[in-house]
Amino acid sequence: MEYLRSVLAERGIAVFVRNPTNTGLAAGELTPAVSPPELWAMAEEDYAAAERLVKTTLEEMRPISTDPWVCPKCGEHLEPQFEVCWKCGHPRDM
Ligand SMILES: [Zn+2]
Repeated sequence: MEYLRSVLAERGIAVFVRNPTNTGLAAGELTPAVSPPELWAMAEEDYAAAERLVKTTLEEMRPISTDPWVCPKCGEHLEPQFEVCWKCGHPRDM
């Protein structure tokens, strides 16, 4: 979460983290905190850019699927880097 915040800050997008202390297990607790931390853009006009940046950053952080996929809704053929169908917006089934 801190990493994401710094990535956004580098792009000049001010964000704050809600529930920053809930990133893991507190001492003695066996279950994660109820509310996960959330990133909030300070300025509403930054929201779309921030959301896009967080998404690409998260995608870079995990192994990339290399298989093209076919949208189950509209049948569009999509490149592996897309998480949603660009044609109809249907999310990729993982
Ligand atoms: Zn589609």
